[in-house]
Amino acid sequence: MAGWNPWHGCHRISEGCRHCYVFRMDSRYGRIPDTVRKNREFTLPIQKNRDGSYKIPAGEVVYTCFTSDFFLEDADAWREEAWRMIARRQDLHFFMITKRIHRLSQCVPQDWGEGYPNVTICCTVENQDRADFRLPIYREAPICHKQLVCSPLLGPIDLSDYLGDWVEQLTVGGESGNEARLCRYEWVLDLRRQCMLRGIPFRFMQTGARFERDGRIFRVPRKFQHSQAKKAGLDYL
Ligand code: SF4
Repeated sequence: MAGWNPWHGCHRISEGCRHCYVFRMDSRYGRIPDTVRKNREFTLPIQKNRDGSYKIPAGEVVYTCFTSDFFLEDADAWREEAWRMIARRQDLHFFMITKRIHRLSQCVPQDWGEGYPNVTICCTVENQDRADFRLPIYREAPICHKQLVCSPLLGPIDLSDYLGDWVEQLTVGGESGNEARLCRYEWVLDLRRQCMLRGIPFRFMQTGARFERDGRIFRVPRKFQHSQAKKAGLDYL
């Protein structure tokens, strides 16, 4: 597992961004998160060690652009070069999550075709409104590997109009941070039920900081949010 953040910074685009961790981390360190800048590690996928081997060895999953959004307007001038590096490293798998799937068609390279086989683009939807906007676009988009992410989950979401065998996995998580909004167990269970009906793998990734179950609200410290979700035993397939 490797990380690659070709650029840093973002702009809030929907409710799920309200307590974005990039903004939280940057404000903690006195940085301005909506000033988007190219990172020094921009060329990391093609950087080599002294012995000529790649710094990121073959076979790694590369978590890409987790301190921004790969399809951000501010990065339009840099993205083509990023795609060229992704295309060159067919021995890696690039995994990215976006809230800007509506920009995909204007952001893919000329040789994209039906998508690069070494790229997973996840679409994130935090509520019904964003699911109804993003998923019709996402479903039709030429992408080889598609996964849904409902995180931070802010309410119940009915995905029955959208789920199908084109979805490789659905991942759910609550919101982190001091001001986290509530995530309800029943919303998580319902998404799991929808996945099970269609045989889609389901992952409950993290509870978030405020989790409600059986009418009780739990404050879950950051270090236990993943383990508590695992303990619930909801993962499917
Ligand atoms: S799109 Fe992602 S990185 Fe950008 S503000 Fe929203 S949550 Fe943060």
